Amino acid sequence: ADREYDVVVIGAGAAGLFCASQLGQMGKSVIVLDNGKKPGRKILMSGGGRCNFTNLNIEPGAFISHNPHFCKSALARYTQWDFIELIRRYDIPYHEKTLGQLFCDNSAEDIVNMLLEECKLGNVKIALRQTIKSIEKLFDDAFSIGSQDGEIITKKLVIATGGLSMPGLGATPLGYQIAEQFDLPVYPTRAGLVPLTLHKPLLDHVATLSGISIASEVKSETGMTFKENTLFTHRGLSGPAILQISNYWKEGESLILDLLPGHSLKELLIHAKSSHPNQQTKTFISQLLPKRVVELFYEMNLLPVTTLAELSLQKIETIDQLLHSWAIKPNSTEGYRTAEVTLGGIDTNYISSKTMEVKSVKGLYFIGEVLDVTGWLGGYNFQWAWSSAYAAADAIIYE
Ligand code: FAD
Repeated sequence: ADREYDVVVIGAGAAGLFCASQLGQMGKSVIVLDNGKKPGRKILMSGGGRCNFTNLNIEPGAFISHNPHFCKSALARYTQWDFIELIRRYDIPYHEKTLGQLFCDNSAEDIVNMLLEECKLGNVKIALRQTIKSIEKLFDDAFSIGSQDGEIITKKLVIATGGLSMPGLGATPLGYQIAEQFDLPVYPTRAGLVPLTLHKPLLDHVATLSGISIASEVKSETGMTFKENTLFTHRGLSGPAILQISNYWKEGESLILDLLPGHSLKELLIHAKSSHPNQQTKTFISQLLPKRVVELFYEMNLLPVTTLAELSLQKIETIDQLLHSWAIKPNSTEGYRTAEVTLGGIDTNYISSKTMEVKSVKGLYFIGEVLDVTGWLGGYNFQWAWSSAYAAADAIIYE
């Protein structure tokens, strides 16, 4: 016999588990279907195992979408403060690391356990290792979901299957395929919050710096800037500044790196030229940047082998320009294998920003990363998962 539930949620990730728990606690019968062997796998891996679960400074400007207004309503109705209150209720120890980013003191497991406890309180059933074979809309506004365990009938179907990042953690395109089945446009997807790779010969130089992290300000061609650290790797560039800017970078575009943010190298050089005229330019610059980074510019013959006294004003300006505005053209990204998020996704013009319901399909909801909403690094993506999940749950409960 067919099983029936008030709500079926596909995806036991951040958005799916939270949505299901809210619904269950309000008396709905809910089942969550997931392809994995345990729930919340990405949460467990997140924030280096400590889960950066939200940010003190959540604001719509920190989200990228073709429809920038879409995220506002949900973010305003279930805020970072609401989620922090939940964390506090569970006595989960946490701290602000930097830039408003909140992390667990102990482990991301605290967050998964909290979500599972919340689900348990709502008698939510979680079915793992599920292969979703079919989704059908029936005549009476109900859906039939077919898996290896048979059919499930429901009036409310919530898709929380996430993006394509980290296939190793269960990511699949199922959510986008369901969207297409119901004639919803999907914006092309690409890897976001991802390290960037470099071409040779620049890569050969940069690879020698692998492991070095420096303060930087990185700027995209669109004028977006992030002032955080850049990490040199054996494939190219990473670190928070690069992950952030990767969301604003497209293949073929350049980035401008300021390796001495907050300083005026020009002024420092002019001053040093009169105070220490006999000092080598290289010695002076090595006081401002890691030696190996300075070495790299010498290897590429981009900095002069002279004393400070020999520097003309023009030379000083060239050096200033180089280290404050180093133009780099990345080759590509490391792709979904290491990306934290997926840019693009389901066109939100077809979704109600208040309820997450598909405007043209009653009872079908999309929440979380599968939508064309992508946050900055720093807890923004989880907050989007919580907020959009809450919007859908609230709508289903009070319909
Ligand atoms: P997910 O959490 O990805 O959940 C989707 C679920 O659907 C998964 O359980 C998946 O197995 C399941 N699923 C997929 N396809 C199918 C299918 N065909 N059938 C059945 N089930 C399916 N964000 C932050 O805000 N802070 C961080 O610290 C942070 N760190 C991260 C670290 C890593 C390594 C990664 C990869 C991401 C990180 N993110 C972080 C991003 C964040 O994890 C996601 O934005 C968030 O998990 C999205 O929630 P979601 O519920 O939409 O999708």
